[in-house]
Amino acid sequence: LHVMHVSVEMAPIAKVGGLGDVITALARAVADQGNLVEIILPHYQFFGASPMLQHMEYETNFDWGGCGITVSRCIVENIQVFFIQPSNGMFAKDAVYGWNDDGQRFDFFCNAALEFLLQTGRQPDILHCHDWSTAEVAGAFWGNYHQYGLWKPNVVFTIHNMNYGQAKIGMASAASQVTTTVSPSYAGEVSGHPAVSGATAYGKFHGVRNGIDPEIWDPDTDQFLPMNYNADTHEAGKRRAREEIQGRLGLTWGADQPLVGVVSRLTAQKGLDLIKHSIGHSLKRGAQFVLLGSAPDPRVQGDFNALAGSMGGPNAAFCFAFDEPLSHLVYAAADFILVPSMFEPCGLTQMISMRYGAVPVVRATGGLRDTVFDLDNDKERAAWEVDGSTDYKATGDQTNGFSFDMTDTQGLEYALDRALDSYYNDKKWFRSLQERIMRQDWSWNRPALDYIELYYAAIGK
Ligand code: ADP
Repeated sequence: LHVMHVSVEMAPIAKVGGLGDVITALARAVADQGNLVEIILPHYQFFGASPMLQHMEYETNFDWGGCGITVSRCIVENIQVFFIQPSNGMFAKDAVYGWNDDGQRFDFFCNAALEFLLQTGRQPDILHCHDWSTAEVAGAFWGNYHQYGLWKPNVVFTIHNMNYGQAKIGMASAASQVTTTVSPSYAGEVSGHPAVSGATAYGKFHGVRNGIDPEIWDPDTDQFLPMNYNADTHEAGKRRAREEIQGRLGLTWGADQPLVGVVSRLTAQKGLDLIKHSIGHSLKRGAQFVLLGSAPDPRVQGDFNALAGSMGGPNAAFCFAFDEPLSHLVYAAADFILVPSMFEPCGLTQMISMRYGAVPVVRATGGLRDTVFDLDNDKERAAWEVDGSTDYKATGDQTNGFSFDMTDTQGLEYALDRALDSYYNDKKWFRSLQERIMRQDWSWNRPALDYIELYYAAIGK
């Protein structure tokens, strides 16, 4: 198969959140199965002199949309990436999103990407576009290109978050052969939404859970950790990471204190009130707390600044930034990673945390439901099925964390208390739990096969 992704994010060169991680890791995983996978991305000015792009080469140029388009190419994370650079300076920006004309800029990018494929005679079997930002690929392909009978790729559209750009999502899910979202539970939760009715009505809406790239997220080779570790050596490795983070963020060493961490965009989706509540509650229960969060909204940032003022100190550290290296250290140092999302299409942080031996404490919604299986809730969980699919159902020793259902602080306390008790009550058991979750497979191996199956289904339609 020849699969061409069209995306506005790609980790690590243009990562805003999970979408960037997913593009890179999904591309690599599908390529590993013997397919040709490539990516088309805008050429952002903020790439600057990025060392990962130092071998960028000229590919072609053409006039389109009233300006010149230059296309360059470079191998990034072993994947061929084509970069679209319009001469009108549309992507001469210091960030991916954040301007009033984001919609127009990305639409232009999508059309220019299609034009590039057409002009260079590339006919991938699958065009795979993502979220509202590249939804235009689906519409433009069927509206402007396909009808001329010039080429025949099939369009797969993946919704990473239903909350943004619903009109575009609606258009793309109706226009694509296959529409997916990033976990079976989230697919079930949003299947009644009008924006996906064009896909559900034809039985072409599917939920495939995301994975994490086990090479990028690997405590045994992670360059951002003071000491590498694996499931056998996690105790020493995590202790070193803990010392390092305490030194850096000014926490005092508490040998018998568990460390609770949050790594998150600070937006309403992520459960802001519950995150706030968890800090005080963790401290009350004798734990330490680290928050690594980036808040796009100044009012939210103001609230958290106030909280940092009143709670920050030897047991609670606040870092308001998007800091990739520090995020690795937090996952490694933490005993628990809290993800109290109001909704969560899939969520990567809970899977990353498991890979680093930090036990996830999550609200059971969307993909968090499909990946975190409560240690105290065996029976209930074993009987539970997602949307008719038993694929990701946990049994026996697949239990791996603590979860709660309600959106109030009681629910959070219910899960956090059980988590902290499990740490305080039996350290030996807790260490063996950490070892167990580190060995669970949250890679793309399995979901990549699901995508390949859907690619073939798209071609068959
Ligand atoms: P979303 O895409 O909704 O932000 P995900 O859980 O799918 O949530 O993905 C979040 C990704 O962004 C993870 O790789 C996580 O480690 C990273 N991340 C989130 N917040 C920060 C931050 N403040 N600093 C560094 N990395 C972050």
